[in-house]
Amino acid sequence: MVDGRDAKQQNQRARFLPTSRADMSCRNWDTLDVLFVTGDAYIDHPAFGTALLARLLEAHGFRVGILAQPNWRSLDDMRRLGRPRLFAAISAGAMDSMVNHYTAAKKVRNDDAYTPGGRAGARPNRATIAYTAAIKGAFKGVPTVIGGIEASLRRLAHYDYWDDAVRRSILADSKADLLVYGMAEDALLELARRMANGDTITKVRDLRGTAFLAKSCPPGAVELPSFEDVSRHGTDFNKAFRLASDETNPHHGRTLAQKHGTRWLVVNPPSFPLTEESLDRLYALPFTKQPHPDYTEAIPAYTQIKFSITSHRGCFGGCAFCAITHHQGKIVQSRSKDSIKAEVDQLSRHPEFRGTVTDVGGPTANMYGLFCNNASAQANCRRTSCLYPQPCPQLDMSDHRLVELLSALQKHPAVKHLFVASGLRFDLLKHQPDYFARLLKHHVGGRLKIAPESVRSRVTDVMRKPGPKAFAEFLARFRQQSQALDKNHVIVPYFISGHPGSTLNDMIEVALFLKQHNLRVEQVQEFTPTPGSLATCIYHTGSDPLTGEAVHVPRSAKDRRLQKALLLWHIPEQWPDVLEALRLCGREDAARRLRPDRPRSMRRANSSRPG
Ligand code: SF4
Repeated sequence: MVDGRDAKQQNQRARFLPTSRADMSCRNWDTLDVLFVTGDAYIDHPAFGTALLARLLEAHGFRVGILAQPNWRSLDDMRRLGRPRLFAAISAGAMDSMVNHYTAAKKVRNDDAYTPGGRAGARPNRATIAYTAAIKGAFKGVPTVIGGIEASLRRLAHYDYWDDAVRRSILADSKADLLVYGMAEDALLELARRMANGDTITKVRDLRGTAFLAKSCPPGAVELPSFEDVSRHGTDFNKAFRLASDETNPHHGRTLAQKHGTRWLVVNPPSFPLTEESLDRLYALPFTKQPHPDYTEAIPAYTQIKFSITSHRGCFGGCAFCAITHHQGKIVQSRSKDSIKAEVDQLSRHPEFRGTVTDVGGPTANMYGLFCNNASAQANCRRTSCLYPQPCPQLDMSDHRLVELLSALQKHPAVKHLFVASGLRFDLLKHQPDYFARLLKHHVGGRLKIAPESVRSRVTDVMRKPGPKAFAEFLARFRQQSQALDKNHVIVPYFISGHPGSTLNDMIEVALFLKQHNLRVEQVQEFTPTPGSLATCIYHTGSDPLTGEAVHVPRSAKDRRLQKALLLWHIPEQWPDVLEALRLCGREDAARRLRPDRPRSMRRANSSRPG
């Protein structure tokens, strides 16, 4: 980035947090309290963790600056904002850097949605480790705090798909002083306060939502099998996963300890969820809602969320392949209607806003305002999902807050169109009739995105998703409702290929189900074993840590390719692979039923294909 050149530019820059010494001078700061280092471009929007936390600390009187996508190989660049007085807060960005860099087939991606121009290469592999080393090199002895999704989900010894091995806690590999996991507002603010009051970072050992390395196992901690043991034995890996899962409820979770060599990784219990008031205060902070003015090219991730609104955080779905519950927690925390309306007021003043709110949602859109209606049951709850295998009777699934919210926003004078584009739990929708009707009538623009992920019960059980019966029922209800509205809605289904539990035979049945129900998958999600998830644990050990059952894991490149092809049975180019899968499974009979409608020219050109 360059320093401001004229008054207008300087005024524009002054609305953002400092990214240069000149910005600091404009605020009469000679030093920062906290230096935020991030692998993403600096977008001053609450959808991005770095901006959210930096604005929070700023609101509490701390001097903060942002070092976005620095050159980690250059000491000069790392020193651009000077040595921070309290600590450096380091994050790989909104995604794990390895997921950001590589496809499920481990091929290098050539784009990065969080970088201007969508260009790849602006951050290193294992960015948390690389940035921490660079900060330590630039500022000897400065305390380092790591956080964000990469640090959070790699806090324990974990399976790494790219190394195909179990790695140590990222704390051990990065040598950071403290790790903040989950949504970090409370922990980071308290840490800054304590350090401002003179505590050294090694004294701060009791904060919820943090982890550190220690010389001994704290009394009362739940001892997980050591790094060495989980690296060698799948049974120990599963045991560690199971024990850790049992302690994720902030109301009863205990401290975890896991030996790494001669040291102990200590993970304090999770932070408590934020109250509605705290969440509202966060979203009322003075975000500009724009990328930093130094950027001259569009940032794809910003383009996508520019006119969208986060209504809540957390998810109680507990899907095995998803990391959100591990990061945001199972307890849904919702903003008030007034807070969200105030955000629409602000959006309406955006120079490019033309009246379309592109999304109102969260990890799962139709969980807004839902909660466990039994406080003592919640305090003692050990279920990983409030919905699987059946919705818990304690779950309040009423849609009145959702309906109130959407109808209030729709009445906003600046809003012409209001969409819900975040994912939905279709098994919840049957308990939310008014919301479902309103959704189809006003908020999905003809295409409803639904993620059954599979329609084979053996597989959906591994995924902790509702099975085929629930999906077929949903489809019938959807079509009935859509017809009653005289609309031609289309379901855009999302399915995963290569998930643990899924065989080629299962995928053939999925393809037949899709054909039978006239559904077409547009984009296949190939399963990637991302750090920390239940599905990744199963992928690594070949058995479910929570049930003890052995699970088939499709690992070979060929198996994964054929599974993907079966989801795309309707695309003629996929037919050689579809046919091979059918032949391998002795299911040539299915070819006739699956045959895609091909253009005449293609049929003539390749008459050896099934006809
Ligand atoms: S008691 Fe039921 S509704 Fe409450 S948190 Fe546990 S699973 Fe969810």
